Parts: sequence; structure tokens; C-alpha cells
Amino acid sequence: MSNSKLFAAVTDLKGVGTKTAADLGGLGIYSIYDLLYYFPFRYDELQTLPLDQIMDGQKVLLKGLVATQPYVNRFGYKKSRVSFKLRIDHEIIMVNFFNQPWLAKQLEIGKEVAVYGKFELAKQSMTAFKLVAKKENDSGMAPIYSVSKNIRQKKLLSLIDQAIEFGLSELEDVVPLAIRQKYRLMSEQQLVYAMHHPKSAQEAKLAKRSAIFREFFIFQLQLAQLTYQGQQKVGGKSKNYDLNEIAELTASLPFQLSPDQKKVVNEIYADLHSQSQMRRLLQGDVGSGKTVVAVYAIYAAITAGYQATLMVPTEILATQHFYKIEQLLKPLGVRVALLTGNTKALERREIYRELTDGTINVVIGTHALIQDNVIFKKLGLVIIDEQHRFGVAQRQALINKGDRPDILAMTATPIPRTLALTVYGEMKVSEIRHSPAGRKPIISEWKTSNQMADVYQLMREQLAQGFQIYAVTPLISESETLDLKNAETLYENLSKDFPDKKVILLHGQMPGNQKDDIMSDFAAGNTDILVTTSVIEVGVDVANANMMVIYNADHFGLSQLHQLRGRIGRGNTQSYCVFIADPKTDSGKARMRIIASTTDGFKLAEEDLKMRGEGDLFGKAQSGLPEFKIGNVVNDYNTMVVAKEVAENIIKADPELTDKNHKVIKDVLQYKQLEQNRL
Ligand code: ADP
Ligand code: MG
Repeated sequence: MSNSKLFAAVTDLKGVGTKTAADLGGLGIYSIYDLLYYFPFRYDELQTLPLDQIMDGQKVLLKGLVATQPYVNRFGYKKSRVSFKLRIDHEIIMVNFFNQPWLAKQLEIGKEVAVYGKFELAKQSMTAFKLVAKKENDSGMAPIYSVSKNIRQKKLLSLIDQAIEFGLSELEDVVPLAIRQKYRLMSEQQLVYAMHHPKSAQEAKLAKRSAIFREFFIFQLQLAQLTYQGQQKVGGKSKNYDLNEIAELTASLPFQLSPDQKKVVNEIYADLHSQSQMRRLLQGDVGSGKTVVAVYAIYAAITAGYQATLMVPTEILATQHFYKIEQLLKPLGVRVALLTGNTKALERREIYRELTDGTINVVIGTHALIQDNVIFKKLGLVIIDEQHRFGVAQRQALINKGDRPDILAMTATPIPRTLALTVYGEMKVSEIRHSPAGRKPIISEWKTSNQMADVYQLMREQLAQGFQIYAVTPLISESETLDLKNAETLYENLSKDFPDKKVILLHGQMPGNQKDDIMSDFAAGNTDILVTTSVIEVGVDVANANMMVIYNADHFGLSQLHQLRGRIGRGNTQSYCVFIADPKTDSGKARMRIIASTTDGFKLAEEDLKMRGEGDLFGKAQSGLPEFKIGNVVNDYNTMVVAKEVAENIIKADPELTDKNHKVIKDVLQYKQLEQNRL
């Protein structure tokens, strides 16, 4: 990998111009290296069988000659069917492709093709899913990638093949030989090739195992470096905060801190005061009052003469936190700023300047905070909310903007201590176990879709009393467009069913300022029902919204359902959460019963981890665990533990990775650092 041509932009490949490069960027692919490591999320096992052995409804691969001119039939909006006859020896089979009209051009009479699809015995026809390229149909394992509208499977695969041709032989091993031998892992070149073109299901499995180890190993190397740097810089700075000024904050609060909040604030204050760098994780359920605790930490740092920053994963959350924190701290003379991807250029430059000259005391924002232009005068406290949503490199970039700043991570999803240590490194843990007193527990109910009349009844009652409602649909597909469609359909239905109410749609693909407008409108009580995908999952605080209806609730993980539910029950009135689901499996039913029966986030997180199985793609973002491209922290936990040990040994022996044997590792980690700047 000494050869930097691997890290070159995709435009170095034939036929890749700026347009394709931009489309690839949408998938997170920027370099040839990214292409090589853009792995399929599953494989279609293409089985070929003689015609008389195929059963009705079976999925098979048929090879034959195109016998008739394909006929394109278009119907409805964007719907179409391409039909043609396929000759297999002396038999004729009818083949239909739905909604892939462009295939017609590739099906010339007499051409030999392979089609994969579902066979219908009675009609002797196939509903085909894909026209299979030569290369795939050789091995019988067709890789399926997560793609977009502009980059389809075929195109992506051809680009990956080009990247393989261009650079596979340049790949050097990140995982040391001894480790690969010990754990029977493939070499770098073997695993990359086999992930894209496995010869068998067995080989695909081995490649995946090797790829997971590699992914975890790199992650743990980053983490070990971060920890090492923290330990090196012994003697963090003791912060002499001003208790008199802090008393003013306490006096200005409209409520008293709960006992748990007090305890946690004291733990944090002890850390701030101590000579060593704080590394603390604050766990507390949604609505338990973590933000106020963060405000106490921020204000203490400021009274001690430092700046503070709070980084959160979404635009909406950043905005919400900003208003809340500004409301509390501005009267005390603190200058609070908001910096996100949407901050206008002029304002942005102003913020950069005031951060550097120290006029701004605390800045709240998204990834925008880790840009190179953000330079603090004296950053002393870094708070990261929902830290599992950020990569190690991103956290590190923010931390490096200060001189040994104290670090506070916050999460609403508790994870077991050993797991936390494995994926976040050494941290002290603080907990808020009990929500502030005076809250009425949310009444939760699980309803099936044929009980909608009851749900509507309750909705009408709440609306009649002037309350507002969230209606949430899950992200249920791999395609964002489809998710949007679900939300749009729900929006249309609710608009029809509640004609005298103001219904509004909020979704992830809207520009940030539009999202903000819709949210502030809802917060101001101007709209009655907010229909949304899970964009609102974290942090939104509208006390008058006391009901939430979650559609297809079985498509969410327990933790995510709990997080969503945490958006309501923030005022002093009775709140209701209705989960609509028709789960088919026992575990699906069990999950609905559990979520309806308890509001204890700690208990739910435990259950969630227990139930999380292979293939459970939902609610990852809310699991409290970092996301990986191929590995899964829970399912592949043992691999993670081994990877951690191996990585730590390497960093211990060679912290700066100066050994020439570690050159490859150094290059890869450097590349990871670069990646963060693309966000
Ligand atoms: P979290 O960030 O943990 O989800 P928040 O900090 O947003 O929770 O708090 C939720 C709501 O509870 C906010 O409206 C906040 O003002 C309020 N709150 C926080 N602490 C207390 C308290 N001790 N007593 C009463 N209300 C509180
Ligand atoms: Mg919060």
C-alpha cells in the first residue's frame, strides 16, 4: 500500500467522470480503495436445474437463447413489464421482468442469456429478478450490493471489477501473518477478491469472517491509539470553576435537580477539578435530564476560563440543544453558538473567528465542528452526545482541537459495562437511573392494524383537547425512496382522515432548514399531527405533543421504539404511545408485549441485546453501539475481543507505528482520518 494509487480518486478509472464520481460519493465511495472494500451485503445463490426438476415457485437460474423480440408493456405510473420467450434446448419459457424496461435493449434475438427469478410451473414462465452477467453465473454466487438510483448493481460490479484489475495486486496485509495463521483468516487480496466473487457459499463465509476481523482490527487500532494518546498526556488541566456563579445557574432553573442528576454533576465536577483528563460516559434514559447535566458541566468549564463544545449526530438535535442551552446560559452572560452543515457562509466565518478569539464560550453542532477551520482559543471540555453515531476518527478530531480537554460522552441507550469498555475503551460510567419526579408514566399499547378504529378514537380525543401527535413510520427498506413513499402515504391518509386538522410531513431527505422550520412550527403548536420517518428519533422536545402512533412498530428495534416514545411524556399531562404492528413471529410478538409493558430503558436495552439476532438490521443507530459495515458487535463479539487484544499489543509496542512492518497499518489509519473530512 506504499503505492498511493490505491487511494487515488475513482476518476482514475476508465469511464468514471465527475458525474459518476458524485454518484459513487453518494454511496460513500471516493477512491479505488473504497471500491475494493465496498462489499456486498448478501449473495443470491444462483442454482441451475434441468427444467423438469424445477418446482413451482422455486428460484433458479435459467440459461438459454432469446427467442422473441422483447415486448415492453408500460402501465400505471413508472410500472412496466418486459416479456420475451427464452429457448432452453427444445423448450420455450416465457420470461417477464417487471419495472426494468432498460433491459429490453440488452435482449437481442439469438443472444445467449442467463436469467434469475421465480419459476411458475403451470404457466411455464419465470418472473425474473435479474439478467445475470457472465462472470456471476460462473460461480453461482451473485453479490448484491447496496446501490442507488444512479449506480445500479451491474454498473457497480463492473467498476469494482475494474478496481480489482487495477489495484488488487497492490493490496498489502493489514492483519499480521501470525494472526491470520492462528485464526485461519484470508490474506487481504484473497478476502477482497472472494467477497466480490466467492467460488462457493463456503468461501463467501470465510471471506466475510476475515473481513469482519479486519474491520474490527482497524477499529481497535484507532481506539488503542486514542487511548494511548490520552494516557500519554498525563496531567490534564485542573479546572477551578466558580461555585458562586454556578449557584446562579441553579437559582435560574425552573426546577430542582433530581438526586441522580446531583450525583452525576458532582462526579463530573470532581473530574473537572482533578489533574487528569476526564473520560466519562453518562448513561441516562430519554427524558432523564442529561442535557441539564451537560449544561452544568459546560458552565463550570466556562467559569474556569475554558471553552466547551457539544457535538450531536443530527441537525435537528443540534438546533434543539442550542435553543435549550442558550435559554439557560445566555442570561448568565454566556455566548452560545450553533454550527451545522447548514450554517450560512457568512455566519460560519463569524463563528470561526469568535471561536478563535474566545468570544464564543460554547459551540453546539454536528460534524461541522470537526472541520479544519474550527479552531478554539482554549477548549477545555468536549461533550459528545450519542457517541456511537460517530467514528473514532471523528471523536478524535474534535478532542484534538483542545489541549487535553475533558471528555464527556452521553448516551440514552445503556449497554453492559464490559461491552462499553470493549467498544469505547476505558471510561468511567455515570448513570441517571430515575427520571425527574412528577412525570406521569406514558400509557403504552400494542394494537394490530384491525384495531385502528380504537387508535383513531384516542387520537381524536387528544386532538380535541388541543394536544399534538407524532405519527411515525419506520425505515423498512434498503431504499430511501421507498421509506419516503411510506411516510407520504401515511401523510395522505391522515390528511384525509383528519380533514379539520393540520397534518404535516417531515422526512430525512428534506433540506436542513426546511426540517428546522417544520419542527419549530410544530413546537409552536401551529400543526397538529407530525408525520415522520425516524428523523425525530433523538432529542426533540415538544411538551404539548403527548401522543405518538408508531406504524409497523415491529420493524424497529426495542431500543429505538423506546427512544421514539421518549419524545412524548415531557409535560405534566397524561401521554399515550400506540404501537401498531402485526408481527408474524413469536419473537416479534414478544417484543411488542415487552415495549408495551415497560418504560424502563435499562430493561429494554437488555432485552434488545438478547433478542438482537443475525440479520436484525433495524434500530442499529439506537443500539448504543457503533455501527460497522460488515461486523456486528453483538453477534461477532468474540472476534471483537480478539481484535482488541491484537490491536492493543501492536500499539503498546509501537505507539507511533514507526516500525516498517506497520507501514500498512499506518497508511490505513491515516486514510480513516481523511474519511471523516468528507462528512
Ligand atoms: P435527555 O437529554 O436525558 O433526554 P432532557 O435533558 O432533554 O433529557 O430533559 C427532558 C425534559 O425534562 C426537559 O424538558 C427538561 O427541561 C426537563 N427536566 C430535566 N431535569 C429536570 C428536573 N430535575 N425536574 C423537572 N424537569 C426536568
Ligand atoms: Mg438529550
